This record gives sequence, C-alpha cells and structure tokens, in this order.
Amino acid sequence: MTTVSHLECSGTGKTYPAGQAINLSPDGWPILVRYDLDKARDGWNRDWISSGPSNMWRYAPVLPVSKPSNIVTLGEGMTALVRTNTLGAALGAKDLWVKDEGLNPTASFKARGLSCAISMCKELSITKIAIPSAGNAASASAAYAAAAGIECHIFMPKDVPHSNFIECKSFGAHVTLVDGLISDCAKIVADRNQEEGWFEVSTLKEPYRIEGKKTMGYELAEQLQWRLPDVILYPTGGGVGLIGMWKAFEEMEALGWIAKGKRPKMISVQAEGCQPIVRAFNEGAERSTFYENAQTVSSGLRVPKPLGDFLVLRAVRESGGTAIAIPDDEALADGIELAKMEGMFAAPEGAACVSAVRRLLKGGFLNPEEKIVIYNTGAGLKYLEAYSPLFPR
Ligand SMILES: *Cc1c(COP(=O)(O)O)cnc(C)c1O
Repeated sequence: MTTVSHLECSGTGKTYPAGQAINLSPDGWPILVRYDLDKARDGWNRDWISSGPSNMWRYAPVLPVSKPSNIVTLGEGMTALVRTNTLGAALGAKDLWVKDEGLNPTASFKARGLSCAISMCKELSITKIAIPSAGNAASASAAYAAAAGIECHIFMPKDVPHSNFIECKSFGAHVTLVDGLISDCAKIVADRNQEEGWFEVSTLKEPYRIEGKKTMGYELAEQLQWRLPDVILYPTGGGVGLIGMWKAFEEMEALGWIAKGKRPKMISVQAEGCQPIVRAFNEGAERSTFYENAQTVSSGLRVPKPLGDFLVLRAVRESGGTAIAIPDDEALADGIELAKMEGMFAAPEGAACVSAVRRLLKGGFLNPEEKIVIYNTGAGLKYLEAYSPLFPR
C-alpha cells in the first residue's frame, strides 16, 4: 500500500503531516505529496506492476490512499499508446505516438485526478465537495462523487461544451453555470466554501488530484519498457498533467526504475486565444500574468492564470522543451487529419499537439528521428459544437 510520508509546500519546502484535508499551504502555495521512496524501492519492484489492477491503482504505493477500501475507481488509466504510422509519415516524424486519454471514464484524463482526489475525500470522511471547472474536471468529479456517494457542487462557464453540462446533471451534481471564465468560478467557490462546508477540489488547491494525474507518467514509462520518449507534447491549461508527469519522472528515477538524466523535452501546447504559459516562457518570466479575454474552443485550455504556472515553466525549461500556441482553426483541422489517418477522434486540445508537431518539425526544434508522444487528453465526441462547423449538414 501507500508509502506516503508527508506533505510539502511547493513554495517554501515546509512540511506538514500526511493524511489531512488541506488546501493551499499557510504561505499560499500548492502542497505536494511526498513518499518514502527508499522504502518503496526496497518493498516494490517494477516487474510486479503488470500483475496489479488494470487501472492507475496499480501504482498504489506512490499514491496517497492508505486503505484499499477507500479507493474509488471506474477503471481510469491504462489507456492506449498508439503508434501513428500514417500521420507520422505525413508530418515527417518517424516515431510518433498518441497516448489516447479520451479512453478514460468520462472521456478525459481528468478521471485520473478525480479518482485520486475523491478516494482521499472518502478516506478523510469528506461529504461535500465543490469544484470550479472549465468542463471535463466537472464531469469527472460528478462521476466519482456519484460513485462515492459524496455531494458535488460544480461551477463552470455557461458556454462550457454541452456534453459536460449533461454529464454533470446526469451524475446528480449541483451545477451552477457562471457568466465568466474558470477564474470567476474559482472566486465563487473560494467565497462560499467556508459557510457551505465544501471541501474545494480545484487542481493544486488540494494535493491529491495531481497525484492521480502523475500516473500518466508512470504508465507511459511502463508501456515503453521503462524508457521514456525524447519528446512529450502536452496541451496545457492548468498544466497539472505536465507537472504531474515531471514529478513521476523524478520519483521513478529515485525508485531506480528509469535512467537518470534522460527525461523527455516537455512541450507545453496552448491555444492562440489563451496562452499565458507561452507568453511567460517567451518573456523568460517565472510566473505568468492573467491572460485577458481568453477565448478558445479548447475549453480545457481556457485557463487565463494557472496556479501552478511556476512549476510548469520550471519543468519545461529544465527539460529543454518549449511552449507554443496554436490557433483553433488549425487545431480542429489537424484533429480531422488525425481522425482520418489513424481512426482516433481527438479533443481539440489533443489535436493542437498535432499542429505543434508539424510546426516544430518545420522550424527545426524537433527532428524526424525522435520518439515523440502526443497526449490526447480527451475524446473528440465531447466537442461536437467545436467540430460541427467543419461538417455542415
Ligand atoms: C483539463 C484539460 C486539459 C488541461 O489539463 P491541465 O493538466 O490542467 O493542463 C487539456 N485537455 C483537456 C481535454 C482537458 O480536459
């Protein structure tokens, strides 16, 4: 079971006891979960993993839940990693892969984060949660809360994809549509959670969602026989998947599961209409600034000021990666290319990574021989409004 040792403030390094319901640190920074990785290395072997459950809980020793009966699972994780021969050839990439996170419960990788966070809520006897969401996190929290019998309060922008709204209502969540962005939704939750007795599960405002998301990194290593690719492209909203994978690589190095110093270049892909990370990266800044008038059909990327921006920027820079913004029309067109050539219908967030590969190969940042992995973070079927204009009937 878990080898969790303590919680740690990402800003000050101060430590706190594990196993508690906690939001930001008293100093105002995200809190990260730490493990006794020496103990994990002695008592656990990567060769045993394939005989574990066929979901992300096969990595339970590096997840925070201490009692197996508290795990709330809908079969998240163990998604397909598909080699794209036709698309790769068309783009000029000889070794291009797509990790299809659209195959998760509720059709996005958000299932991983919420499976972990809701399991921790169960373990900590939390009965009511609230979440501000750009869309898919709402669907996933509604689903896992339903499975756990936890009351779920959702705040999301009123122009969220219809699929997210219908899903949340179907799962019995209390849904409020807000005339604004995820940042406005976050303000409402922050103002009301005290009096309502909600535990807030916004990413990085609690320590457990990122732990679920990091399993994308463990799983990729396992699927590639413990050799990481040269390049990872990740569509970045809050950037927590990217930070999570970077944390997973650090942990796997400490576990002796992967070679040290051979991490992939991490490429943060954003939408042209909302690119705070790209702007900060290009300016050499440590933090992003609020991106005014954020607009994109990639609802998961519509995060004008990511809370963990400094961690995203640090990981991208340390990895020798870069950050790039893609216009929506280009992302949607490449979503159709991917669908036609490979039979995978991607969310526009994932599709933007196809455009990014093409641009970065053309510009010489990537080379055709590299092993490149695109994260398609969600299913295209959730974005019918975005794709519909391409197919008038
Ligand atoms: C939430 C979301 C993202 C962004 O994820 P972060 O890890 O918060 O950057 C990307 N794509 C989809 C489909 C999403 O739902």
